[in-house]
Amino acid sequence: MTLHVYNSLTRRKEVFMPLVPGEVRMYVCGVTAYDRCHLGHARAYIVWDTVRRYLQTRYRVHHVQNITDIDDKIIRRARERGIPWQAIAQEFTAAYEADMQRLNVRPADTSPKATAYVGAMVSLIADLIAGGYAYASGGDVYYAVQRFPNYGQLSGRQLQDMQAGASGRVDETEPHKRYPLDFALWKGTKPGEPSWDSPWGPGRPGWHIECSAMARALLGDRLDIHAGGADLKFPHHENEIAQSEAVTGQPLARYWLHNGFVNIDGEKMSKSLGNFFTIQDLLQRFSAMAVRWFVLQAHYRQPIDFTEEGMQAATKAWQTINEGLTFAREFGPRLGWAEKTAPEAGAIARFTAAMDDDFNTAAALAIVFDLAKTLRAAGNALRRQEPIASDQDLAATSAALYKLSEVLGFTVEGIIEATASITSTASGEMEIIEKIGEREISELLAERQQAKKAKNYPKADEIRNYLRKRGVELADKAGGVTTWWRI
Ligand SMILES: [Zn+2]
Repeated sequence: MTLHVYNSLTRRKEVFMPLVPGEVRMYVCGVTAYDRCHLGHARAYIVWDTVRRYLQTRYRVHHVQNITDIDDKIIRRARERGIPWQAIAQEFTAAYEADMQRLNVRPADTSPKATAYVGAMVSLIADLIAGGYAYASGGDVYYAVQRFPNYGQLSGRQLQDMQAGASGRVDETEPHKRYPLDFALWKGTKPGEPSWDSPWGPGRPGWHIECSAMARALLGDRLDIHAGGADLKFPHHENEIAQSEAVTGQPLARYWLHNGFVNIDGEKMSKSLGNFFTIQDLLQRFSAMAVRWFVLQAHYRQPIDFTEEGMQAATKAWQTINEGLTFAREFGPRLGWAEKTAPEAGAIARFTAAMDDDFNTAAALAIVFDLAKTLRAAGNALRRQEPIASDQDLAATSAALYKLSEVLGFTVEGIIEATASITSTASGEMEIIEKIGEREISELLAERQQAKKAKNYPKADEIRNYLRKRGVELADKAGGVTTWWRI
């Protein structure tokens, strides 16, 4: 059992070997707190949460994820709304945390805020200047990319090509820059903007220096995993490498991991195209665990295409898992299950093999789905009072389903509740039919009970047939009790 991960830096799958045996230091780039998080954030953070959970089955993981609480966009939003910039940062940090909680994304071990590490950033910038990698100019400080020989190694770009592409769009906002591709480490203060003191005058840090300074302060000079969205490879991660490695002389991260993009109906998600979903919008229409299922269905490095049909299929698949997860509660006592049963070893081994292959969650989900399907079928048989496979096997199946669901971050949702929340804003038709079904079924069952009492058997059969056509099967039991289940 050896974990292999795809390293963006070397562009191949490598055996995963942490720097310190048994421990993993993992840094994930976090959000800039100026707006609601969208589907792209949901994907990224579900993916890295799942990677972290899987690593935790084998290692002690130290997971750091920053929050950018000072930035041009935060200042702009605060001006628009006429409130302090701190209020914007607080509001959207809280919104981010609430979204993540609903998606069952665990908080990082440490979530440093940029404004709490300005001192560390200033001292890193001073070291870069002392080493000849950066220069102060007109109250700003810039990184001189030509001084760093490996600039472009992560994104596979050559400085000459980048320069050709960038020429002519330099000096308007950053007149003190000496070379078009140099980037700001420190931005001299402008009227009405928040500022901190520094040897180069009052100002605030550039975005890229934040991660270099906070990763170093909290995890040391070398990380095992540095992760983030593929859109961060250039320039953000390229700049982090240039900043950190110029000072420490060591590789910043052993493995660079990047998750793919999210498209909506085959197009790039953007506010201007009107296909932009916040996590809040999404969770009004779909259950959080269905979203999680949808995200993990794809390999994390591949792009995913968000469609209504895709989400409906994910909702259906998740309902099967949810039914599987509730089996133990519903039937465990009746089947006389022991408190602790060892999970089915074969399923655990297959799951581990899938996840060891660069976190192949698509294959892992198929294994989990099979476990849930077995339990759902057994549940249906038990409700019909039909024979099932040996109880012990089901207990092991259920134990495996629980264990693996936890690694993937799935947690039982109240079925009725979840259905109600899905349908409350009238989204997909499939969910609406099921919701009507729930209510209609109980009404029809009561009606059928009356018909049976009155010995009106043709009417009782008519109701049974009506329900069967809509995917609901009935079983009459002793004492006039009728149970039902979905086919
Ligand atoms: Zn970062």
